[in-house]
Amino acid sequence: MTESTTVNTQVSGGNDVAATASTAYNAALEVIASVEPRVAEATRDELADQRSSLKLIASENYASPAVLLTMGTWFSDKYAEGTVGHRFYAGCQNVDTVEALAAEHARELFGAEYAYAQPHSGIDANLVAFWSILAHRVESPALERFGAKNVNELSEEDWETLRHELGNQRMLGMSLDAGGHLTHGFRPNISGKMFHQRSYGTDPETGLLDYDRVAAAAREFKPLVLIAGYSAYPRRVNFAKMREIADEVGATLMVDMAHFAGLVAGKVFTGEENPVPYAHVVTTTTHKSLRGPRGGLVLATEEYAPSVDRGCPMVLGGPLSHVMAAKAVALAEARQPAFATYAQNIADNAQSLAEGFLQRDARLVTGGTDNHLVLLDVSGFGLTGRQAESALLDAGVVTNRNSVPADPNGAWYTSGIRFGTPALTTRGFGRDEFDRVAELVVDVLSNTTPNLTKDGRTSKASYTLADGVVERTKAASAELLDKHPLYPGLELT
Ligand SMILES: *Cc1c(COP(=O)(O)O)cnc(C)c1O
Repeated sequence: MTESTTVNTQVSGGNDVAATASTAYNAALEVIASVEPRVAEATRDELADQRSSLKLIASENYASPAVLLTMGTWFSDKYAEGTVGHRFYAGCQNVDTVEALAAEHARELFGAEYAYAQPHSGIDANLVAFWSILAHRVESPALERFGAKNVNELSEEDWETLRHELGNQRMLGMSLDAGGHLTHGFRPNISGKMFHQRSYGTDPETGLLDYDRVAAAAREFKPLVLIAGYSAYPRRVNFAKMREIADEVGATLMVDMAHFAGLVAGKVFTGEENPVPYAHVVTTTTHKSLRGPRGGLVLATEEYAPSVDRGCPMVLGGPLSHVMAAKAVALAEARQPAFATYAQNIADNAQSLAEGFLQRDARLVTGGTDNHLVLLDVSGFGLTGRQAESALLDAGVVTNRNSVPADPNGAWYTSGIRFGTPALTTRGFGRDEFDRVAELVVDVLSNTTPNLTKDGRTSKASYTLADGVVERTKAASAELLDKHPLYPGLELT
């Protein structure tokens, strides 16, 4: 059922293009090897590793050869600080072309009033968004108050006042153990040093977002920024409700859709589950479910557009022109009908994976999923997340450990494993294959036993796998992976 979408998007045009891509990669590796053969070798090894492992990391995917090849060009050499048509460097006409295309595709794809394609990553996109919101909500009114046109006109004293205002604003975001992200105001990240942050959690019984609690927290804390979005919450969010809460307390609603942008692009999340019509500012990565190059993107309403447009020099230096070109290619792919099929398959496959776990008596945070990820509580297997992650990796299943709400094992060992379906869905895995994946995972975890420490306690890190489980899991995954090759037709010589 996923055949046509994978062939088209992996190697657009089918086998002829696959053959051309093979030629391109073989030639590129030869050129690289002429300077540093070890890099060429590692690059080959990486393809082999990606082809031969069950990649279930929720934030990863496989971009098409068209996207990947676009990144390896001389656009990398060009400085282009500024914005389209308004650069601080000469000779940016071709960068203008690709940046304008990336922004246009993003606006059309997401139905956004404005798109900014320069952020280098998700964290950069969030920094651009934070400082744009601060510029719009705090800096502009202060300049007006001081009767200045720009910050350079301010006296030393007024500037000091403004800096203190900028640095003392409030942000309300989802707590880390409910699935929020470090960049949403947590202390180890710069966002937590910039903002006075509080977080909202999920219902301790159901694990679901409780909008009444969010509203109560917002009324009490009165944040300048209400941030929605997650990297480990297995459910959809109602953004109309989030906007209502933001409006009630005068907050700017920012949505970080880094994880689920592909589901928005593919129209799986529509209506109140689509953040774009409700948020003032939306940020995303381009390399997760959106399946583009590593990078970030900011979408905004007309109101916030002028401040987002100042991302450089506010937060960024020169944009990565080669990556903006690749964003334009990836977003063009995401506008094709096949991408909507792909996105629906991501969600259907996550359902199947969740059902596969539940049928085998495994415990899931929130009891299931309705997006692209599944959070398995491995305490039922007597393991920590760290042990489960390592045992699965030994058996060729690549995942990452993750906290669960009120995690007794803390953020390092954790009690959860996060699974995502975007990458294997790109390879063409369907519902049956994901049910088989659930079976393999449960087999590995049921056959993993924590070791005892020297003083007789249960270790949180070391474990022993039962005989034969690694071999049988690897054989079963190889069978699945062979049926759905990564980059079919692409052959390195
Ligand atoms: C992945 C992620 C980011 C960071 O993206 P990078 O490209 O790794 O900087 C930011 N926010 C959320 C919600 C994410 O999931």
